[in-house]
Formats: sequence, structure tokens, C-alpha cells
Amino acid sequence: MATERMTPAKIRCDACPVMCFIAEGKIGACDRYANHGGDLVRLDPLTIIENTSHKLVPFMKDSMPEDWDGNIVQGDRPFVTAVGAGTTYPDYKPAPFIVSQEIDGVDMVTVVTEGIFSYCGVKVKIDTDRHIGHERDVVRVGGEPIGHVMTSEYGSKMLSLGGVEHLTGGSKKEGRMTCDALLRLCNREPVEMQIGEEDHTTTLVVEAGKPPLVNGMEEKLMRVGCGSATIGMFPKQWVGHVDEVVVVDDHITGVLSEHQTGKMLEVAPTGIKIKGRKSTPGRYFQVAKPGTGWGGTDIEDPLTILGPFNPKIAWEGLSLLMVSTTGEQFGYFVLDADLMPQPAEIPARLKASADLIAENCEPSICSVLFMGGAGGSLRAGVTENPVRLTRSVKDSLTFVSCGGAESYVWPGGGITVMVDVLDMPTGSFGYVPTPALVAPIEFTMRVADYATLGGHMDEIKKVSSIVSAETRKIAQRDSQPDPMDRTNYRWAKERR
Ligand code: SF4
Repeated sequence: MATERMTPAKIRCDACPVMCFIAEGKIGACDRYANHGGDLVRLDPLTIIENTSHKLVPFMKDSMPEDWDGNIVQGDRPFVTAVGAGTTYPDYKPAPFIVSQEIDGVDMVTVVTEGIFSYCGVKVKIDTDRHIGHERDVVRVGGEPIGHVMTSEYGSKMLSLGGVEHLTGGSKKEGRMTCDALLRLCNREPVEMQIGEEDHTTTLVVEAGKPPLVNGMEEKLMRVGCGSATIGMFPKQWVGHVDEVVVVDDHITGVLSEHQTGKMLEVAPTGIKIKGRKSTPGRYFQVAKPGTGWGGTDIEDPLTILGPFNPKIAWEGLSLLMVSTTGEQFGYFVLDADLMPQPAEIPARLKASADLIAENCEPSICSVLFMGGAGGSLRAGVTENPVRLTRSVKDSLTFVSCGGAESYVWPGGGITVMVDVLDMPTGSFGYVPTPALVAPIEFTMRVADYATLGGHMDEIKKVSSIVSAETRKIAQRDSQPDPMDRTNYRWAKERR
């Protein structure tokens, strides 16, 4: 990386548009670069993934495997990630590392860079049926808008945070707050956020891989399904042991006797009346307001969703189980002479059915997926003809990874990637105060394909020249494919 010496004591970092002057012994505005004795150094070590799933071979033809000294370079497939690699600016400069090695007789190259993503954000999936906000509600951190609530998925709420409009399109403070929140989320740190306006504000703490805190309460379980699905899953636990079952849910509350499941199992009508909008038989919408109570509603007393029982059908002694979609809340009632439900001790068999619902729920966690578009700097750092890189990715000739983790490349134009931050090495993300997020990205392909797309061939270095004692080495994750595995590439499939 070129540096311009301005004074004996200061050097200029040219790794991003901020172009910091850094005094001796000091660090730049992003905390990633420092002036060490007049040299500009990247403070975090370059990270390499050790792939131990492949048999290690002796380095010298006649040497024994036990002669191996443990140096990763002698392993079959060390993968150089972009974590700690550094950034280049402006766009035309080759990426910091362009690394080659032979893999199973094929010369492969990985182009490694820490991309500066002005166009980026995170998609957050929160496993909870509790109400955290309405669709389109603004998500704030430190009073600044950083994103919004998206759709509810099956048992989860989705947030879209960041994006260029929050990073650059609002006030300076909004951009800073957004960048800081994204950075912490991507580096698996907790972030407290407020959702909605004064009359319906929810406080939420999100941390990748951890349960969410909704208004200070830690969520435990992701619901097994909606109320209707729950009726369909567990009827055999109930039929013959209770006259009626209601599964309370903010979206679709299920009623056993009216549901198709109950009809098929010949459950007799009970004359129950549910407040809310009837959808199909035994399925009700909007039985209450959304909230943090039973089944993601705002109720704590399930009886509030019931109207009077039909006296022509109901009978004294009729038994009723009400349960939430996570099985965490349940109540057992028996109708008195006035057909009013009265709380009673729940029979062990029915308590076991609530426990079974809970057992079938998965633990509630937050998932944070980084999403960014690999634009100018990135592609020009790989090739002088950037669109060819895009085509190479779409043609499955180039494999895209982020810190060695497999990324999902969106269809359509450009190289828009999405990756689970939990699959990436810790501390993968940084920032620059433009503001933008810094994220690792690697492009791996055959050397021959790299030449075809106009790559910076003169910059290719052998992997053995990259690894040093300072290199951080981490293990390959079982859940992740080896980026250099031939099954990732179209040419390997064509050869079969
Ligand atoms: S913000 Fe960081 S990368 Fe950008 S010029 Fe300053 S030290 Fe270099």
C-alpha cells in the first residue's frame, strides 16, 4: 500500500477516502490502521482458515508425515480470508492479497479484500411471537432511525436495518449511529433498539445467536406453529381427555371442535364463541391486539377472547383447555351451571400436552445476516474489467465467500451478497467514518479463469509467501463448504 510521508511524524493512510494523517504511535479514525515507526500497519492480523478435513501430505517427497512441523502452509488447503487483509482505495488498485495455490491439480487463486460497503445493511430474524412492532415501524438506536420492521415470518419477526439511506441520506448523527449499530450487530455484540412511536414503543435487545430481550424479558421459545397448525399437530393428546381446546395466537387462533381436525376426529360441537374475525372453520384472526402476552397477543387472561357459550349446545361440566402456541401459558376450565368457565386444576395428561407443545418449540434466537453490494472498489480491485467478475460469479466460475463463509449471491444484476455473521470469524467487521462498514470478501476461481476475466495477474503471490507467524489461524467450520472445493464450480460438474 502506498503511503505519502507528510511530515517526519505523520504518515497518510490511503486505505479509504478519509485519508487520515496518522502521527507516530497513533491509530487512524477507523481504529484499523496505525503508524508504527513511520510504517502504516493494519492492526488486526490476517486470518487464515485451516482446513484439516483433507489429508496432510509430507512437504518433501521422501519425508514422513510425522516430520510435518505444524506449519499451516504444509496443509492441503489453507484459505486466506479477507479478515485483517486491509482495503485499497481508489478503486483501480489491485486487492491487498491475490493468492494462488494448487488444489488437487488445479491452480486456484483467491482475491482477498476488506471491502468498504456504503451500500449495506443487516437483515435480522428474531424468533418470537411477541409483538415487537408493526410492519414499517421505525427502528431507532440512540434516538436515530436506523431501519424498520419488515414482515412476520413463521414464528419470527424480521427487521431491515441500515442501508445507504440511513448511512448517508440522513443527518450525520443518523449515519454514525446506523454504522455503529451495524458494526456491533455484525461483530455479534448486543444492540438495544426502540421500535415504534410513543403509544406503542418496544425496547428490544438483539445479539446474533442469542435470545432477544423484548421489553427486558428474555424470549425462550419460538412457537411451534400458528394456533391452527398447533390444533392440527397435537389433537391426539386431547381427544377423549377434554371437550374443547383453544390455541391462542395473535395471527390464527385455533379451536379444536370447529377445526377440520376436530371434524375428522369426531369432536362434538361445544357452543364456544370466539371474539375475532372468523376465517375458515376453527381458525380466527384478530382475537386480541398484538402484544407480549399469550401467543403474541396483548392478553394475560385467555378468557377475554371468549364470548358467551351457546346454551343450546354447551353443557355444565364442559371442560376447556386454553394454551398458547409455545405451550408456556395454559389454563384449564370447567363450565359451571351458568355456562361460565371456572378455573380448575389441570389434569396431568393435559399438562403433558402443553409440555409437548413447548418441547416441540425451538430455542428463540436472533439471526443477523449481513447484506452488501460488491460495487466499484471491490470489482476493480479484482479485475480491470469489472463486469466480467460479475459474469464469472453468475456463471459459477467464481465462488464468493465472506471471511471464508459461504455467501448467498442474489439473482439479477451486480454481486449482492448475504451472509450469516455467525458463520464468519469473530471480529470480521470494521468501519470507516465516511460512514461505511468494512467487511471481508473473497473471490476464488481457477487461475485460468482469472486471466480470462482480466485479473491482476502480476499481483498473484503464492500462499506460502502470505502466511507468517503473525497470521491468525482458525479452524474450518463444519457447517461451511471449503471455498476451494471443486464442487463449488461449474467446470468440475462439466468434467464428470
Ligand atoms: S479511516 Fe482508517 S482506513 Fe480510512 S484513511 Fe483513516 S486509518 Fe485509513
